[in-house]
Amino acid sequence: MHCTASGRPLYDGALRLFIVLLICAVNYKLIESHPLNDGQATKTSEKKCGYESCHKTKPNMLNVHLIPHTHDDVGWLKTVDQYYYGSKTLIQKAGVQYILDSVVQELLKDPEKRFIYVESAFFFKWWREQDAELQEQVKKLVNEGRLEFIGGAWSMNDEATAHYQSIVDQFTWGLRRLNDTFGECGRPRIGWQIDPFGHSREMASMFAQMGFDGLFFGRLDYQDKMERLTTKTAEMIWRASANLDESSHLFTGALYNQYQPPPGFCFDILCADEPIIDAKHSPDNNVNRRVNDFLKFINQQAQYYRTNNIIITMGGDFTYQDANVYFKNLDKLIRYTNARQENGSTVNLLYSTPSCYLKSLHDAGISWPTKDDDFFPYASDPHAYWTGYFTSRPTLKRYERIGNHFLQICKQLTVMAPKVAGEFNPHLSFFREAMGVMQHHDAVTGTEKQAVAADYARHLEVAIRACSMNTRAILNQLTVDTAATHAAESATESARESARKPRWATSDTKKQYKLQFETCTLLNISSCAVPELADKFILTIYNPLAQTVSDYVRVPVPDVNYRVKDFDDVTIETQFLPVPTPVQDLRFRKASAPYELIFPARELPPIGYKSYYIMKTDENHMIPVPDPENVSSFTSIGNEHIRLTFDTNGFLVTVMVDGMTRIVNQEFVYYEAAIGNNREFRNRSSGAYIFRPANDQVRSISLQPKLKIYRGNLVEEVHQSFNDWVSQVVRVYREQPYAELEWLVGPIPVDDGNGKEIISRFNSDINSGDIFYTDSNGREMLKRKRDHRDTWKVKLLERVAGNYYPITTKIALEDDTARMAILTDRAQGGSSMGAGSLELMVHRRLLHDDAFGVDEALNETAYGEGLVARGTHYLIVGSSNKKVSPTTQAIERTTQLRKLLPAWTFFSNAENITYEDWRENFTNIFTGLQLELPKNIHLMSFEPWHENEVLVRFEHILEKDEDPELSKSVQINIQSVLSSVKIADIRETTLAANAWLGDNQRMEFVPDSPEVSYNAYGIYQRSIDEQLMLRVDKPLLDAKFYNQLESWEEQEQLALQTNRLKRLVDESQELNRVRAEKLRVHKVARQPVAEKYVEGDDRFLIELGPMQMRTYILTLEIAN
Ligand SMILES: [Zn+2]
Repeated sequence: MHCTASGRPLYDGALRLFIVLLICAVNYKLIESHPLNDGQATKTSEKKCGYESCHKTKPNMLNVHLIPHTHDDVGWLKTVDQYYYGSKTLIQKAGVQYILDSVVQELLKDPEKRFIYVESAFFFKWWREQDAELQEQVKKLVNEGRLEFIGGAWSMNDEATAHYQSIVDQFTWGLRRLNDTFGECGRPRIGWQIDPFGHSREMASMFAQMGFDGLFFGRLDYQDKMERLTTKTAEMIWRASANLDESSHLFTGALYNQYQPPPGFCFDILCADEPIIDAKHSPDNNVNRRVNDFLKFINQQAQYYRTNNIIITMGGDFTYQDANVYFKNLDKLIRYTNARQENGSTVNLLYSTPSCYLKSLHDAGISWPTKDDDFFPYASDPHAYWTGYFTSRPTLKRYERIGNHFLQICKQLTVMAPKVAGEFNPHLSFFREAMGVMQHHDAVTGTEKQAVAADYARHLEVAIRACSMNTRAILNQLTVDTAATHAAESATESARESARKPRWATSDTKKQYKLQFETCTLLNISSCAVPELADKFILTIYNPLAQTVSDYVRVPVPDVNYRVKDFDDVTIETQFLPVPTPVQDLRFRKASAPYELIFPARELPPIGYKSYYIMKTDENHMIPVPDPENVSSFTSIGNEHIRLTFDTNGFLVTVMVDGMTRIVNQEFVYYEAAIGNNREFRNRSSGAYIFRPANDQVRSISLQPKLKIYRGNLVEEVHQSFNDWVSQVVRVYREQPYAELEWLVGPIPVDDGNGKEIISRFNSDINSGDIFYTDSNGREMLKRKRDHRDTWKVKLLERVAGNYYPITTKIALEDDTARMAILTDRAQGGSSMGAGSLELMVHRRLLHDDAFGVDEALNETAYGEGLVARGTHYLIVGSSNKKVSPTTQAIERTTQLRKLLPAWTFFSNAENITYEDWRENFTNIFTGLQLELPKNIHLMSFEPWHENEVLVRFEHILEKDEDPELSKSVQINIQSVLSSVKIADIRETTLAANAWLGDNQRMEFVPDSPEVSYNAYGIYQRSIDEQLMLRVDKPLLDAKFYNQLESWEEQEQLALQTNRLKRLVDESQELNRVRAEKLRVHKVARQPVAEKYVEGDDRFLIELGPMQMRTYILTLEIAN
């Protein structure tokens, strides 16, 4: 097929046909029952799961909900498989298969017992290995609420460095597998984030939108924890979005003892605590003492919570490998403690689950405090700010983001495949699961051992390769195999046939394809085999966004004489630039290409591709040469939107945007890492988790970076060389309203014995005071104030580390006139340490461990020297005026999306294909959409689901006050957009697609009235002495540092400083009013869209307000 380059909807009936063929797409063996209904899975036994299966509590007693649980890291000190099978016991005695084996047997023996399981990655590894009989028994346990899934995502994801798209994906996949296997009783209702190192507001919002009733977590700042315990605010209603209504509110509880049992009550084989010895006449009989100790602990805990219910986690890391041991002692503990009720004890122990505990809180009928900010950063003691992991292992963090990028492309192409091969869906699932593992709180965080990090990268690489087989096959179908379109109908049968083939069918993968559609994974160091070896090659540029985009393509080439043509015989303008010298000099770079060929790929169709033919010519192009050196004057690069000026020393000094010039300078500096023996909290080292600079001063690395300036018709670049291990390319493409700063850092020298934390710092004259903004998992922005927390008066003994926040995609600041934002290409730590200043930590190399378990220094090496990392910051400067569209914030939002999911370049050798042949016989432009979406709407998911089903997810990417036009609600008719898909039915689901939205009912909790808040604050006002008294029985804090505090005075001081004693009551009322105002359901005007978006069958018309995400399962028409 041959299409025009006009960029209009191009696509004729033949293209629609492949979508029809999707009906054959999904035949995934693991599907056992339809989602979102009970299916067969639950018919085998009587269902009484969830809240109905809870043991009764006693109204006039303190009900102690004992939660048997295990925390199974999906990789940390050992790899996923090592943990599952239990190998490498000398590193850690942990074997997940034994946990599930033995827990199931214990549960089968006794209907009173309860157990929760969290990580779907491990559960389904185990499930697959069980025979049908045991599987039935497990289903019975699930149906009776005796085994309950909590969380249920593929892994327990990190909340600082994980991107929302990947979080939603990994929940969607884990919850789907549970739903397919167990139906409604397999649906988790409780978020269980007991180990992640701080908690994002967006995660809470997503839990709420996924239909969860509540969230429990273990780690929060030690000062915040003390404050919340002493003010009975550790359980709260988290109002988790400034844009969405109650649908984003989530009941949230901070656990008292993280996720551990009371000290002395770990009955696991991994622990050394005393079992309960109840032989009547044994001299070792300890029943009385043990019960007394337990009561003492729970009575203490109970005084910090509001109801007559408390939750006690009975488990820990990889506990219950021999479940009998734990359960046997819990049985005794319950029996002997409850026996005291006859003598007047009012304590009642029961086997429970987090959902049953939540139900008890709900049934208590009381009101709860609210929370509007987040739980970052997390500090476990005055010198342990867990802000280093925001940056740790920068290359793994980038690789994870590339994984997300390619996963979306693989999903889209697979859903659009004209002919479905049997291996397509297994490949895709494997990739989804690999990405699910990457989100784990010791994976993308960089807090695993080096060998485990290498295994994560290996796993992801295999998954990318597997899905590359899909993309290669499908792109060949779309591009080469015109028979696919012409003979579509007759192919239906054979496609169905192939879909029936077993998993890992080999026929398609072995076939010699006409085009390679190769991915070059080393493009970030300008290395790619196809263009280096072939004189003729084809680039297929795939655009995964639902908007038509234009982008610049860079191709590493050995020479400067190439011509680029599109399929309309138009020669595209090009520019050649040298690969920066520091990149060429990388010892491990195998490529010989000294140049990059750059050309604009215009009007790339939405959810589609466009191809270009590139050939070497005999013409003599000019070798690119830098501007002559001129050390006496300033240098500038730019275009009509933005201009950057560099001073004679070689530093960026000003940015001019739309006539406004602001001082913006940028440099690389570093913090020297603190070194300590970790024996006490004062002597903490900086490490994989912890960022602790030796002092607040940054050290410079260069006073005079060397510059080379290259100009051309498409892009202007400044190549900066700061020293022999830090360099940067600053570039501005024609037309683009922002600048790119592509940094190259490493190997970081450590021969002076000091670890180093490298930052890129931007100092501007923007008068931002102590306010800056950081994103939450790539979505809503949160306001930050230096040396401040919204809910308590913080005392910072680590001023730099304590002001660091996770930057998943963006950090920004502004004043009355100007605004500056930096977008990142991976998660990094960042802050604003002065007015007008933004900094991002790009790389770190440390020589000491921080004593939180990894037991290795974060000293990444590759090829025998320190690891080199390369990445990009996108600098956007503009007016802070929010009245004229597009605002700077709107430009940031659209740029953010384009940098998350840029066009992907597939390379094919064309030595045997002439240009004419290619032009005549190949389909060189394609789109899966009939209409591109409005700028502010993201087609976030477009993927095959169950048989005859497609999962789609739309998202409004702006917040409500960011732009006068683009922040408005938008209506679109899904049928008009996806008219190439024949939709028979559409149903909206919760965010993770495991429940119909209409059926979803969430538990409601009542916020404290202003009077209650008033009284609460009033109490603190007059209770300084009480507060100090409270500390005599000090709340249990996970950090051991309290024991290490030397003097009583020191403790007292800390307690005083951490309390919110000075806040005025009036202020708190005002705060409540402002919050209520902010959270009032926001009625936004609807953005007028072209008629074409809304016309058609009303059933398919949807509306998206600011920051809304909506998920649908489309049932396809079955072609006859
Ligand atoms: Zn963990």
